[in-house]
Amino acid sequence: MSDADVIVVGAGAAGLWCAEVAARGGARVLLIEKTPRCGSKVLASGGTRCNLTTTLSAEAAARQFGPAGERFLRHALRMLPPLAVRARFEAWGVATVEAPLEKVFPASGRAIDVRDALVRAALVAGARIELDAPVARLERAADGWRVYLASGATRTAARLVLAAGGRSYPRTGTTGDAYAWLAELGLPLLEPVPALVPLTSPAGWVHELAGIALQQAELALLDASGAELARRARPVLFTHFGLSGPAAMDVSVHVARAAQHAFVARLDLLPDLSREGLRAAFQACAARPGGAGVLSALHEAARGELPRRLLECVARQAGVAAEQRAAQVSREARHAAIEALKGLEVPIRGTLGWDQAEVTAGGLALSAVDAGTLAVKGVPGLYVIGELLDLQGPIGGFSFQAAFATAELAGTALAARRLST
Ligand SMILES: Cc1cc2nc3c(=O)[nH]c(=O)nc-3n(C[C@H](O)[C@H](O)[C@H](O)COP(=O)(O)OP(=O)(O)OC[C@H]3O[C@@H](n4cnc5c(N)ncnc54)[C@H](O)[C@@H]3O)c2cc1C
Repeated sequence: MSDADVIVVGAGAAGLWCAEVAARGGARVLLIEKTPRCGSKVLASGGTRCNLTTTLSAEAAARQFGPAGERFLRHALRMLPPLAVRARFEAWGVATVEAPLEKVFPASGRAIDVRDALVRAALVAGARIELDAPVARLERAADGWRVYLASGATRTAARLVLAAGGRSYPRTGTTGDAYAWLAELGLPLLEPVPALVPLTSPAGWVHELAGIALQQAELALLDASGAELARRARPVLFTHFGLSGPAAMDVSVHVARAAQHAFVARLDLLPDLSREGLRAAFQACAARPGGAGVLSALHEAARGELPRRLLECVARQAGVAAEQRAAQVSREARHAAIEALKGLEVPIRGTLGWDQAEVTAGGLALSAVDAGTLAVKGVPGLYVIGELLDLQGPIGGFSFQAAFATAELAGTALAARRLST
């Protein structure tokens, strides 16, 4: 007799959700987790507040994953839209609230409430959870799957769900173990790279701006030839190593994927203000009796929104002496200063890598998976869900939304009533 109808490997967001759905549907589910606790990434997420989904519609959320991701996720997000994720958590006793930038958090502001609800729901549905049980190897057996634990013990089931996550934040248990298993099965993998990760800059002046946060900014990532790779209007944070914040992290996958390592992050520091308006404000300031200095004129043109430390860098990049009278600045220099406000160029060399990446881009090719059930094509009884798939969205609750939605479809397909038909 097998240990379960369904073995789910990995008790993260996707594995817990899938175990709950399949067990509630009547399947005997065994959830196997490598570490001593479930949902470590849920606990770490959203600055321990857990941005669990988005306020966007299912269609708009799917579009965040790029054309291939959108096609793949369209059905899953229709079956489990963001509103349904919120309703499910509310039913489990976790009220949710909306926040700026289309984010949704637990009303308590505590990620642990989300994690605990997922674990409780899976257990109440009847799933068994085995902790501290790293899976070392998989084997296809005549009647399903045999899972070898690092301890040497084996577990068997007719169906196997891989929800072991990616390779990012390895201290939470995700060290990319499942990629080797998928490769051994001959399945197509897109090279995993760290994504949603801060960017590093070699420029000392950037490090000196550490602590400055721009709530409104637009970042364009350019390669060495000046070609634009990505653009994102979201907050940006200067750090002692480079740039962080959603805009920088959202474009980071392009840096991680590239063979070359010279990029420029061009920052529009005032995306809501036009060049014409900025020029006029600068000139008005320069023309005032008493004559303002360059920094004051830039400060005023920026409506006081930018700190002086940053404006000094703007002036330096434009080649304008900050201590000069604004009225004495040549037309070309004035234009250069406004251009630097609308396009401060920050050299970028790389990312902070796996240790700081929120997600992994790449993974099992979507073409290998049935988008309706998450069953792997041509490999009977195998399902892959969550971050292990080649799906990547931006910051904003999209990773959890995709994990939950893919888990919902697999769990539904694996419910006992389906297995028996
Ligand atoms: C710091 C941080 C903040 C984040 N914030 C957010 C956020 O606010 N909103 C959002 O949407 N996303 C966020 N994310 C991303 C999100 O956490 C992941 O995309 C999501 O957890 C993926 O779910 P998953 O179930 O596929 O994988 P995971 O949650 O990573 O779970 C995989 C599980 O598999 C286990 N496992 C791995 N190998 C084995 C093995 N050999 N045997 C047994 N078990 C194994 C792991 O221990 C882990 O428990 C954040 C990520 C990080 C690191």
